[in-house]
Amino acid sequence: MKIVIIGAGIVGLTSAWWLARDGHEITVLDRAAAVGHGASHANGAQLSYSYVAPLASASVLRSLPGWLLSGDSPVRLRPTFDPAQTGWLLRFLAACTQRASDTATAKLLSLSALSRASLHAMLAETPAEFHHRQNGKLVVLSTAASMAEAERQMRLQAGMGSRQHALTAAECVALEPALSTIAHRLVGGIHTPDEEVGDCFLLCAALHDALAPRVAFRLGTTVQRIRVERGRIAALATDAGDIVADAYVLAAGARSGPLARLARSPVPVQPIRGYSITAKVRPGNAAPVRSITDSARKTVYAPLGNTLRVAGFAEIDAGRDQLHPGRIATLAKTLAETFPDAVAREDLHPDRLQPWSGLRPATPTSLPVIGRSRVANLFVNAGQGALGFTLAAGSAALLADIVAGRQPAIDAAAFAPM
Ligand SMILES: Cc1cc2nc3c(=O)[nH]c(=O)nc-3n(C[C@H](O)[C@H](O)[C@H](O)COP(=O)(O)OP(=O)(O)OC[C@H]3O[C@@H](n4cnc5c(N)ncnc54)[C@H](O)[C@@H]3O)c2cc1C
Repeated sequence: MKIVIIGAGIVGLTSAWWLARDGHEITVLDRAAAVGHGASHANGAQLSYSYVAPLASASVLRSLPGWLLSGDSPVRLRPTFDPAQTGWLLRFLAACTQRASDTATAKLLSLSALSRASLHAMLAETPAEFHHRQNGKLVVLSTAASMAEAERQMRLQAGMGSRQHALTAAECVALEPALSTIAHRLVGGIHTPDEEVGDCFLLCAALHDALAPRVAFRLGTTVQRIRVERGRIAALATDAGDIVADAYVLAAGARSGPLARLARSPVPVQPIRGYSITAKVRPGNAAPVRSITDSARKTVYAPLGNTLRVAGFAEIDAGRDQLHPGRIATLAKTLAETFPDAVAREDLHPDRLQPWSGLRPATPTSLPVIGRSRVANLFVNAGQGALGFTLAAGSAALLADIVAGRQPAIDAAAFAPM
């Protein structure tokens, strides 16, 4: 089949890899001039297969007033009059129950297990250099209540196959001595030894190079309208003219919501903005070797080669493109306070921190949307939210099974477009 994929982020590129492997004739379109320039560019770099609990949870409801009122909280909600955002927020609030969160966790764990296996299978056939390694992940917690909640989640996931251990504060520092500066404010942590790390953008670039001989790339091409006739897409209207195929895959990240609406096949994806910096690390042992999530500060750290990627913030907004200097300064300050000897003072200057911001493509339940849409020849692979790097390979393998009509390895109904 001739298939056009809209979006050359990690989700579109892994989709291209799996669909090309099935013998389809693939074209990948992106409005950017190069691959991996959306959310996949400088994200948190964590392949966190066991850390998939959805954003919507019972505890989130308690935090909501603070998010609405505070200007500098790490999670921020800026309500707009956009009906799509209002509808999304109502569905998000409805998903903030323990039961909904536990059910979503089980579904996401099935997809994340498939993703780990699919990424490894893909890399066995298409080796890629992207600082990929199994370094483990340590989530550190600063209150007894957050520790109790994390242990509850750990026990739930133990029954679903996750291998995680609860550690005391002293055990966290023994495992990761770089945490000694913040030892006084830790009550404990959850360690997941088999989590992985990697540079998502480098993987995108490697996939592009590996696919280029057999996949057509039309970069710098924006989809402006989607022409639907008799329940099928007749053509994509782009700034480079009409593009026609047998089938289409919508993998446009945070823009998937508005594009799906153009095809009259709604997909509940809203942008959630996050920020990152990437700092050069000093030689020595002052930077963490594991991926660290500092739950109190809502900040993640990932070692990538001789750098440390620091990411955080979640702003539910209308998706305006902006790189807020205050957010970058906060990340730099948090890094300096948490790992004071990891980065030389001159390398903490904003000009040297590769400041970046991107939009997580989030659904209200954190479950991605994967499968055939209401429009017969439109498939969707979108809404991986805060876990798009982690879930990309499994989402793509699942999509390829659905397109081929094969029995998928996991329950596809959990992710089906409505
Ligand atoms: C701060 C931050 C930290 C994160 N940390 C992690 C992490 O540690 N681990 C993890 O697993 N995930 C993480 N994520 C999430 C992850 O980055 C995303 O889920 C993932 O990159 C989404 O990939 P995508 O391919 O769907 O979207 P994108 O990478 O955004 O790609 C979509 C593409 O579609 C293109 N496009 C959009 N509209 C059009 C159009 N009209 N015409 C043509 N092309 C179009 C865009 O140009 C873009 O290139 C993080 C995200 C952020 C923002």
